[in-house]
Amino acid sequence: MRTNPREVADGVLCLRTIMVNVFFIREGSSWVLVDCGLRGHVETIRRTAQRFVGNASPPAAIVLTHAHFDHIGSLPGLLEAWNVPVYAHPLERPYLTGESSYPPPDPLVGGGAMALMSRLYPRGPIDVRRHLRPLGEGHGVPELRGWRWLHTPGHCPGHISLFRDRDRTLIAGDALTTTKQESALAVATQRLELHGPPAYFTQDWQAAEDSVGRLTALEPELLATGHGEAWRGAEMRAALRDLASRFDEREVPSFGRYARSPALADEHGTVALPPDPLPVIAAGVAVAAGLAYGLARRRQASR
Ligand SMILES: [Zn+2]
Ligand SMILES: [Zn+2]
Repeated sequence: MRTNPREVADGVLCLRTIMVNVFFIREGSSWVLVDCGLRGHVETIRRTAQRFVGNASPPAAIVLTHAHFDHIGSLPGLLEAWNVPVYAHPLERPYLTGESSYPPPDPLVGGGAMALMSRLYPRGPIDVRRHLRPLGEGHGVPELRGWRWLHTPGHCPGHISLFRDRDRTLIAGDALTTTKQESALAVATQRLELHGPPAYFTQDWQAAEDSVGRLTALEPELLATGHGEAWRGAEMRAALRDLASRFDEREVPSFGRYARSPALADEHGTVALPPDPLPVIAAGVAVAAGLAYGLARRRQASR
């Protein structure tokens, strides 16, 4: 297993908080935090930053790839000590101002323990509106020179990725994963394997595919994702091209709540959900069990 934290590109440090990555980007004597990991990592993040930057000063800003609980868990705790701007895409705003919750996760997709447990995951919202700044039209972040943000929706409405042209470093958040995030075993071993977004939390698969296509076209040299190890070079780009060209067959679930119709959202949050398949499936299981019971009784009676 690789060291944690680890400098994955020039001035870019990756810290894994259990199963979610947090990035520290050095900017001269200052720095910027990208995502905030799971809850309970405030002190780890502060200590790591201090060692990396060489002083205890707060970051110039926090940038969120999106606001799922595993990427903002330690954000409220950090903001108790730091009075800093928090940048997010306007379509993620409702989940950061208390206005809306994310759609319920889809435990039927992905086929692993992490997916089955996903109904227990918190889906917000939190309220950090005092710090919140919308990412602007120009696709730059004022505190993050040399980087641009790209809107990469699908996993959630306002998901963004960050790209540095100078060395083609891509921080893709949950638009891509380098581990099979639905499988607890793959997550534990952090085996390198390129996938689309974590399936149980992905609410629009067509948009997710379009986003993977746009990220592939960037031809990154280093791919760093919200889950899994960073991956560099030609082998990664080949894996990316294969994923983009066969996304529908490889990644889009054949059944599940959002498999064929997305959860819809606007700047006020979630507005429409496809029907929940679980009661239908539960009813189907109950009918099947009833039939089996009836059959067994009839057999017993005819003996
Ligand atoms: Zn996510
Ligand atoms: Zn995530």
